[in-house]
Amino acid sequence: MSNCLNEHVAAVRALTDAKGFSSNEERIWEMLALIHTEISEATNAYKKGESAESVGEELIDAVIRIFHLLSALDLDADALFEAKMAHNWERPYKYNTVRGG
Ligand SMILES: [Mg+2]
Repeated sequence: MSNCLNEHVAAVRALTDAKGFSSNEERIWEMLALIHTEISEATNAYKKGESAESVGEELIDAVIRIFHLLSALDLDADALFEAKMAHNWERPYKYNTVRGG
């Protein structure tokens, strides 16, 4: 099984530790909220007609924050990803939703 996500999680954790950002449990709520802020920034950039790269930069900010949180929760990102993808492949077309997707 691939370990590439966990390698990114470890790289983000090294950065956050070096830059003084706590990964303590009392920050979990804050970390979850900050993931939302990055998605909002991406939404705003897209809404304003900014470049795809600008939108992508905010999406990567969200990914970095998610990796930091996965590290703080001591989770195996690759195992979770592989299990969830396998589960999703077993689901029906459009997951039987009527609207949205
Ligand atoms: Mg940002």
